[in-house]
This record gives sequence, structure tokens and C-alpha cells, in this order.
Amino acid sequence: MCAVAIRGWLEDVNISAPRPAPQPPLTHSNDPGVPVGPVLRASALTKTYGVAHAQTHALTGVDLAVGAGESIAIMGHSGSGKTTLLHVLAGVLAPTSGTVTWRGRDLAAMSDADRTKLRRSEFGFVFQSGQLLPELPALENAALPLLLAGIDRSLAMQLARDQLGRLGLAGLEQRRPGELSGGQAQRVAIARALVSDPEVIFADEPTGALDQATGWEVMRALKESAYICGAALVVVTHNPEVAHWCARTITMADGRITHVATQQPSTPELHLVPPPPPPMPNVFGGVSGAAR
Ligand code: ADP
Ligand code: MG
Repeated sequence: MCAVAIRGWLEDVNISAPRPAPQPPLTHSNDPGVPVGPVLRASALTKTYGVAHAQTHALTGVDLAVGAGESIAIMGHSGSGKTTLLHVLAGVLAPTSGTVTWRGRDLAAMSDADRTKLRRSEFGFVFQSGQLLPELPALENAALPLLLAGIDRSLAMQLARDQLGRLGLAGLEQRRPGELSGGQAQRVAIARALVSDPEVIFADEPTGALDQATGWEVMRALKESAYICGAALVVVTHNPEVAHWCARTITMADGRITHVATQQPSTPELHLVPPPPPPMPNVFGGVSGAAR
């Protein structure tokens, strides 16, 4: 699995990969009989925007646990609090009350620097319209989280190149976002979300700006990528079909969860290019095989 391979790889070469000490084995919620513990837990979350007479109660008491490797679809009408929940879960926004814990650690008790490190190393994000940097080619956009984490540039580029290749974008590495189709740009965004080998991928209506067929392909790529890498996926979607890919669908209304449905997610048919073999040991410090 690429998560394991990349993790071992980063640790072996002793670069400054911000990995916390021993992790429990990665599991999938759809592996029968495999116990899955929550990695992320939200308790009694509220979030109120604004002050005094102009308040919006975006979250009004949300409890949610995200298991390792689990896939969760969040549905609900516009304004029901989906994006706010995603941002609070990811530590981007502080809740007004309630707690979010990552492997038992309260996000609110972490320093800003630790929360940032957590977001960079353990979380990946895909937004509705990619939010790629328009002046950077696809390769550098995909490598961005690794570059920000201070990882050796050539290694970062190789990991990004591999991830793009896996998502069917080989040959497009030097194109800027404006030179890509909407579906291709979203795949670059997925590559960027996956490149740091995250434990949880948050996706906010990742296919919302795409036509139906392209959206379907992008969603499949996202689901397959998360599955292959053992990452949990928390995806906001309006598409009930997308929810079928997920083990659990939660529906929100007025800032709370009003319905939870669990299902056996349809096992992804893997269409992605399998992970490449690890590079030769003598490449570290100057990764070879980066150019294809
Ligand atoms: P959804 O993603 O389900 O459409 P949001 O979480 O974006 O819902 O918004 C929930 C509610 O909070 C809405 O009423 C929205 O207008 C309000 N809201 C969201 N962000 C802000 C903000 N930054 N300031 C004030 N109100 C906000
Ligand atoms: Mg939203």
C-alpha cells in the first residue's frame, strides 16, 4: 500500500517528515472483522458566527467519530452547517463550544504550530474548485504540502509525480491549472491531498463544479485513492450516488445531524495506476528515477 510504502520510505531516509511515533495499523472500515477505532472525534460541537443580534448558529450540537480508513458522506441542504463542520473537524475553525480530538488529543489544547503541523501531515483537503495555485504547474501544486513541510525538493517532486501518475495525469505535470480541464484540475487537487500520505481526507463538494460524468470519475478517483492509501474520507456531497461509495452517510439540518445511515460501501473497482516500486536505496539524498 502506498501509505505504508511512503511512510516507511520517509522514515528510512531520515528526512524531516513530521511523523508522530508509532501509529496503529491502518485499517479499512469495510474489512470485515477488523476493529476500527476513531482517529477523530467531535463531541457536542457548536459554532456560532457573528455577535449579539446578528448571530448564526451554524453548528448546534454535533457528535461524530471518524474511524481509521472510514468513509463518511455528509449531506444536507445549503446552509445546514456541512462546511462549518468540516472546517471545525479539520482544526481550521475553532468551535464555539465542544471538543475535537485527534487520537485523543484536544485540538484546542494544541499550539497553533502543532495544529498546522497536524493539518499538513495528517489531513488532506479537496475543495469544490481545487484551489490550485494558478501560477504553478500541476507537479508543484501537487508537491506543495511536502515542500511546505520542508521535505527535500527532489523527493517531494518524485512523490507528487507518482501521485499524479496514479491519478492518470502522467504527461501533464508541467501544465498550469488554466491549461487543465476541470476534471484534471480536481485530480491534481486530489494528488495534492494525498501526497503527504494523510490519515484523513476532507473533501467539500469536490465534484460540485463538474459535469455529472466528470464528477463521477473524479469521485471515483478520490475514493480509490483514499482506499489505496488507507486514509479516512469525509466528503460533503449533494449527490446521493456518491454517498453509496461511503460506509456512512450523515444528513445535517440546522446545524445538527438529523439522520445517520450506514451501508456496506461498494468496494471500489481499482482503476488507478498501482504505486511504483520504491526507489533504489542509493538514491536518497539525490532521488533518482524522478524523471520519467
Ligand atoms: P453548508 O456548507 O451546509 O452550506 P455552512 O457551514 O457554509 O453550510 O454555513 C452554515 C451557516 O453558517 C449558514 O447560515 C451560513 O450563512 C453561516 N456562515 C457560514 N460561514 C459564515 C461566516 N464566516 N460568517 C457568518 N456566517 C457564516
Ligand atoms: Mg458548504
